Amino acid sequence: MKTIAQIAAELQGYDPQALSAADVNQFLDQLVEPVTGTETLPLFSALGRVLAEDVVSPISVPPHDNSAMDGYAFAGDQLAPGQPLTLRVVGTALAGKAWAGAVGAGECVKIMTGAIMPAGLDTVVPQEFTTAGGDGQITIAADVLKTGDNRRFKGEDIMQGRVALARGERLTPAALGLVASLGLPTVRVFRRLRVAYFSTGDEILSLGEPPREGAVYDSNRYTVFGLLTRMGVEVIDLGVVRDEPALLEAAFRQAAQQADAIITSGGVSVGEADHTRTMMKQLGDVAFWRIAMRPGRPMAVGRIAGSKNQDKTAPSAYPSSADSYQNDTDPSHNGAVLFGLPGNPVAVMVTFLAFVRPALLRMMGSTHSAPPLLRAISTEAMRKKPGRTEYQRGRVTTAPDGTLQVCTTGNQGSGVLSSMVQANGLIVLHHGQGNVAVGDAVDVMVFDGVI
Ligand code: AMP
Ligand code: MG
Repeated sequence: MKTIAQIAAELQGYDPQALSAADVNQFLDQLVEPVTGTETLPLFSALGRVLAEDVVSPISVPPHDNSAMDGYAFAGDQLAPGQPLTLRVVGTALAGKAWAGAVGAGECVKIMTGAIMPAGLDTVVPQEFTTAGGDGQITIAADVLKTGDNRRFKGEDIMQGRVALARGERLTPAALGLVASLGLPTVRVFRRLRVAYFSTGDEILSLGEPPREGAVYDSNRYTVFGLLTRMGVEVIDLGVVRDEPALLEAAFRQAAQQADAIITSGGVSVGEADHTRTMMKQLGDVAFWRIAMRPGRPMAVGRIAGSKNQDKTAPSAYPSSADSYQNDTDPSHNGAVLFGLPGNPVAVMVTFLAFVRPALLRMMGSTHSAPPLLRAISTEAMRKKPGRTEYQRGRVTTAPDGTLQVCTTGNQGSGVLSSMVQANGLIVLHHGQGNVAVGDAVDVMVFDGVI
């Protein structure tokens, strides 16, 4: 486990006062490590979890050569160009009920989709390409078919003994189905990541408190809760923590003891009067950054030490499966990774999506971290200074000609959540990029499938 100073020394041109977004991702990649604890879960409980081991197929799927169509199976070498072919139907093969007899030249077997191909036959003519004669014969029209058509091969989906899904893959609905198709009822996955979060700031009101002059309701805990829950991590909500050293220390210590990662919002900008920064420094190995980005900019990252000899235990509500919850030897048991986000509500979401989410995915054991960006045509001009990454709230739509287009959504102030609500993605204007003209293509991180 590397210290902040060690990672910083290895990162070319590291300047905590002017980090690019790419530097931040690289740094965090070094800072965090996948959890080591695993558990075995039934498939219905495993959606969204990350595989802790390769799934090796015990069988071939499909297990036999079989028919892809309802029709007639026959030996394809009887087809001749320009010639119809007449065959006598000698039997029927149903899905789940094979036809075991021999099939000679001039003969065929009526076959249903999924039924095992009778021995020696390699071709299926779909029902609709045939005409029935009176006397149990069918005729295949000329040139509608070639040898091998409509036959599915044994193992064409997965061969026995092959890796069907690799360690580090997240279990999507398709992946659950694939594992089930192998006859496997359970999967070994990484344990759920535990993430604690709290909001800081004396001006922050918890819901239920009466409004007060100069104070705002805490929205960050709710957006962070939503972002984390979408990722399938276990959330530990530590509330709003007032700006008192003893309260902050208690919150950080509890978080470091219970969680693998801690997300705070507020109190990390330079010149903050509060104690958050001081406490982070005191309790951990923490770097304070100014990132070349908008919105965002200030961010603290590092590790908050845990109390000695105190194992991180799963809360009692943890739905552990029978075999299976293994207390791991995670380095993070000796503390938790800290993501100290800025206070502005949109900056929280943007820094989460740009930096925290990929880092947490890595901690979850996932080998994929960045969702692909879409290219869309900007319907408006945007001012952009090269030398920082800017994230604009955008709405992607499909133009009548089928191309994707994007426009920004209203007031882009970093505290304005309503424009975030209207957005279905973030327009990412990269570090080196300059002004955008109407009609230029821009990258968009779409929320769908991400948050
Ligand atoms: P800070 O990063 O602490 O300087 O906060 C920047 C801005 O974000 C200030 O206007 C804060 O009032 C606001 N802010 C900080 N924390 C929250 C929160 N939890 N919910 C809503 N707004 C917040
Ligand atoms: Mg503040």
